[in-house]
Amino acid sequence: MIVCKFGGTSVADAAAIGRVIDIIETKRSQQPVVVVSALGGATNMLLDIANKAASGELLIALQLVEQLRDRHVREAAILLPGSAEADELTADIAATFDDLAHLAEAFKTLGYLTPRSLDAVAAIGELLSSKIVAAAFRQRGYPATFVDARDVMRTNDFFTKAEPDVDGIRQASQERLVPLLQQGRIPVMGGFVGATASRLTTTLGRGGSDYSASLIGAAVDATAIEIWTDVDGMLTADPRVIPAAQLIERISFDEAAELAAFGAKVLHPATIAPAVQRGIPVYVFNSRNPRAKGTMIAFDAPRLPVRAIAGKRATTMVKLRSSRMLLAPGFLRRVFEVFESHRTSVDVVTTSEVSVSVTLDDATNLAAILQDLAAFGDVSVLPRAGLLAIVGAGISDSGHAMAKAVAALGDIPVHMASLSATGINFTLVIDDEHVVPAMQRLHATFFETAV
Ligand code: ASP
Ligand code: MG
Repeated sequence: MIVCKFGGTSVADAAAIGRVIDIIETKRSQQPVVVVSALGGATNMLLDIANKAASGELLIALQLVEQLRDRHVREAAILLPGSAEADELTADIAATFDDLAHLAEAFKTLGYLTPRSLDAVAAIGELLSSKIVAAAFRQRGYPATFVDARDVMRTNDFFTKAEPDVDGIRQASQERLVPLLQQGRIPVMGGFVGATASRLTTTLGRGGSDYSASLIGAAVDATAIEIWTDVDGMLTADPRVIPAAQLIERISFDEAAELAAFGAKVLHPATIAPAVQRGIPVYVFNSRNPRAKGTMIAFDAPRLPVRAIAGKRATTMVKLRSSRMLLAPGFLRRVFEVFESHRTSVDVVTTSEVSVSVTLDDATNLAAILQDLAAFGDVSVLPRAGLLAIVGAGISDSGHAMAKAVAALGDIPVHMASLSATGINFTLVIDDEHVVPAMQRLHATFFETAV
């Protein structure tokens, strides 16, 4: 058994869905479970509808409902020309959007949204795309069965970022998916969407379809998890910043997890964990270029000092200097409690005897944090900071790679440096405006010159 997940761009329209069917055709002998995202851009639009309605712009919200309805009906009609199933599917799509229009009216009256109502709306994208894709398979003669993700993907009730109930998912997958596979059928389900034990609709958080795929892969003991997207695989850097970025053919789970957590858009950061636990390799493939090699993520990958470079702009660095830190047990705990009490997670940390520096992804509560921190000592902020991650299993095998990285930066000032405990991520904090030139210099040094 394998799990093949197709992202929004890979199911964006009838032509893309046609390519999905062609790809799965070549995988039949491996018993694929198909997991799909919403049609590209649909989730954004659904959330937009909810937000517009709740803020009083009902007319615009209802126009968006109609646009989205038309798009789903149009693509379904192209895929299922004039069959009885087409009428059924069109009726189903129409009913879903009628409900959505009523919801929008309710949001307008209420004037606010709850995380639970947002999930009910966001889930529509994947519920419809999976029904459409399943029907398209059948139209082409394949024995596909739509599986409602809410029957399989059990989660807790942390709406908008629900956490999976791994045992529940395993049991439900064994009951609902495995028998279909054994009968030679192709289960098609939406990613991203789940449900609580009492069957309230939840979602795993934006971009969560990858995570769905790896959770399902782990639950059915898949031999591979394939993430089909619109790029050739994981690259040595973001190609929008570094046009010379190169395909990574093989990368270790640890390295891929660091890169995903760092904002490499290819994979949702949580995707790796369920695969690692069961030792299932994860592949990243391009649905527009299915013959390309792609990237394989597994335990064993040739050990390189640097596998890839990632940059992240628009972060905030906070520095605290305190003479009281000296020899004071529990000091760091008290400092971190400040961040915790303002629900702000800390990204990179370095400490010395008299100072702590941290970076924050989300500076929403910065003013309140600074006020509380002032009780401990002198606080300063670098509001426009950027991060560089130099990731490679062999980065700390000797000092050479790190020395080379720092040397490559030349005159770009470095505010913090940290080597992850796993010794595979060398992270540097620099000014936001230096992130792009720094990435260019690092990439040129490690990947564009013969060593
Ligand atoms: N459709 C969801 C989103 O746009 C989940 C996903 O595509 O992974 O966030
Ligand atoms: Mg995605």
